[in-house]
Amino acid sequence: MAEIPNIKKRGEIKRIGVLTSGGDAPGMNPAIRAVTRSGIHKGLEVFGVMNGYQGMIEGNIVPLTSDDVSGILQKGGTILKTARSKDFRTEEGRAKAYKNLMKLEIDALVVIGGDGSFMGASIFSKEYDIPVVGIPGTIDNDMYGTEYTLGYDTAMNTVIDAVDKIKDTASSHGRIFFVEVMGREAGLLALSSGIACGAEAIIIPEADEGDKDLQKYLKNYKKKKNSGIVMVAEGDKAGGALKLAERVTSDYPDLDVRVSILGHMQRGGNPTGTDRVIATQMGVAAVEALLDDQKSIMIGYVNSKITHVPFNKTVKANRPIDHDLLDIQKALNKW
Ligand code: ATP
Repeated sequence: MAEIPNIKKRGEIKRIGVLTSGGDAPGMNPAIRAVTRSGIHKGLEVFGVMNGYQGMIEGNIVPLTSDDVSGILQKGGTILKTARSKDFRTEEGRAKAYKNLMKLEIDALVVIGGDGSFMGASIFSKEYDIPVVGIPGTIDNDMYGTEYTLGYDTAMNTVIDAVDKIKDTASSHGRIFFVEVMGREAGLLALSSGIACGAEAIIIPEADEGDKDLQKYLKNYKKKKNSGIVMVAEGDKAGGALKLAERVTSDYPDLDVRVSILGHMQRGGNPTGTDRVIATQMGVAAVEALLDDQKSIMIGYVNSKITHVPFNKTVKANRPIDHDLLDIQKALNKW
């Protein structure tokens, strides 16, 4: 059993910590900047926790000034680094983390990350009665309760840029490219970038329509067109672009099939204008929420407005895929 440190009585918030956790996403830096600058503007002292929850456990916590966050608005990644911390899943780890916060008299936290990070935040907040507000950061844009998560627009534009280039070589050689996009459980990035690139078929874990489109496309291939793009989310039921391409090659040996797995490039790059603006709105909103006595909530974005969503809702389910977008893809299909 972990030694439980004395739980501090909650009072006025004077010092806050900010950390990034889970997978990195473009937009995390603008969010860190907004939390720091708006916190200081409201008279708070702001601390950066390095390496996600692991830095909290190890006491790797540094003060942040307005100057420390200069020049990061346009940068991908996270200046605070990020990590997946096994220790934070244990009572002992969280007790150490709390002690380190108390040493620095940090009263509240802003956590920028995905649903796993919010699950950890929710447990920690309950155990030690410390207010935590979350900012959703993941290129998947699949979190319940928000129409936007930081990184999605930048990642979509990265995919579009790559696929536009792949299309040039696909059409020059008369090839079909299976392009694999990130998304172990979520197909929105593949779906939206596939629509933006005019993909022949889009294969995602949440729906079977893409597979049917692919079969129709392959049957009509010779008559219609001699090159094409098939977008595949990495978590599709067939097991990714490579497996799908192998199956197609074995069924249609005459076709010239290639695979391109875009990989981690999708997580990097300068945040787009959309990511910078929404990250800034969310960062400011997170500080305001803490000062407004909110705890255990995620800052959401719905109908272009900031919302507050309790952690216990965001961590229970993913946002369902947008069926209107699936219908649009069907309506545009030539096969
Ligand atoms: P991504 O969407 O990029 O995967 P995420 O925030 O969902 O981001 P996770 O690896 O699931 O990423 O979680 C990040 C960290 O949050 C974990 O490494 C762990 O430290 C903490 N965490 C997750 N779940 C729990 C839990 N049940 N209890 C305590 N801590 C947790």
